[in-house]
Amino acid sequence: MSAAWWSGSDAAASFGQVLEVLVRTSIHERGRKGSVKGITRVVFALRRLGSRCLPACIAMLAAGHSHVRAQPFIPGTTYFGSDGYIEYHAGNTAFIVSVPHGGTLAPVSIPNRDCKDCSYGLDYRTQELAREFSARYAEVTGCSPHMVINLLHRRKLDMNRDITAATDSNAASEIYWQDYHGFIDSAKSRIMRDFGQGLFLEIHGHGHAKQRIEVGYLLRSLTLRQSDSVLNSASCIDSSAIAHLARGNRQSFTHAMLLRGEPSLGSMLARAGYPAVPSSQDPFPLPEDDYFNGGYNTLTHGSRTGGSIDAVQLELYSAIRSDGDERSAFVDSLVRIVYRFIALQYLEDGAPPCAGLSGVARLDPARTLTLYPNPARDRLHLRAPEAIASVRVYNLLGVLLLEEHDPPGGTIPIGQLPPGLYIGSIRLRDGGMLRVRFVKE
Ligand SMILES: [Zn+2]
Repeated sequence: MSAAWWSGSDAAASFGQVLEVLVRTSIHERGRKGSVKGITRVVFALRRLGSRCLPACIAMLAAGHSHVRAQPFIPGTTYFGSDGYIEYHAGNTAFIVSVPHGGTLAPVSIPNRDCKDCSYGLDYRTQELAREFSARYAEVTGCSPHMVINLLHRRKLDMNRDITAATDSNAASEIYWQDYHGFIDSAKSRIMRDFGQGLFLEIHGHGHAKQRIEVGYLLRSLTLRQSDSVLNSASCIDSSAIAHLARGNRQSFTHAMLLRGEPSLGSMLARAGYPAVPSSQDPFPLPEDDYFNGGYNTLTHGSRTGGSIDAVQLELYSAIRSDGDERSAFVDSLVRIVYRFIALQYLEDGAPPCAGLSGVARLDPARTLTLYPNPARDRLHLRAPEAIASVRVYNLLGVLLLEEHDPPGGTIPIGQLPPGLYIGSIRLRDGGMLRVRFVKE
């Protein structure tokens, strides 16, 4: 194989074909617990070609990644990258969960990173939290989230940095970095095919003094302290990790509303009892506050750099990660919040929450509205998955008979309605709409 073979676009195409065959063979051989060892073999072959070729070959490998990883991964199946250090749960939802700093493996074969200004701290229990989230999400909705986990300790590899800082220039661990981002690229391709848009959600843990979730959109504290009109300016939207969503969404929410209005992830978390910044309750970090606004992955995989997959970084405080019971309660809430956020922002109205699922999800408490008693005489009680903004009651001819805003305790007085069948239209604080039928005695 001469060096000339690698130059030109034909060479890149051939390279892609070689990779494809190797990876297909490898996955085929290994069945459901697939692997991408073929890529490792190619890289070792490239290294034997000599260092002069290596940068170009690595570039081609990177370019080929999304194509290679677009091979059919089976939703609900777990795959591992080279040497088993990167784990990918193939999914069928419109979102990806990424866990770059939750790994604990520290093989002696990989040298410790030792770089100026580098961080080595483990984001304690984020891997466990993400696994519990993914399992619970599947249980509740019947859908499998895409999830990518770096199993290596951050001392060995920091998966939220560019390849040089991530590996501290250790060429032997570059393949794990390629695996991580290759799996994400593959999940993104799948989401684009299935939904045309979606969300990259990255899970971290912080040790800051204020016990609140820091929701990162690549916007600095100083920016978040600006007025809504500044946040809604084109230049601010251009620098946001949710630029795609902010430029156009089904309910015409502005960028500021998506960041800290009622429909924002921060507000949804806060309403569930988990303080978050930014949110309507806590709109921006103060100048003296520590705040993580995102990193390499939110920049690389979100829509600030183009495309229609947005990115959000969730920096979780200690209590909701470390304690098993608190973590479990938080995971329950997070499942419902992510479900609602995705359904409201990224799915067609009434669409099933994942690809390949026909009809309604097999269990969908996030959409469940409890209404009692039914029939009712004087008062109707509503318990919704979110705070209720307003309720309108129509008769079967579509005539509006009653409207209540912020009904206290979700209770609607219906004593004055004549007996009959009615339709209630309920608007939730996050923008969601629900419709119910009830009988007035
Ligand atoms: Zn982290």
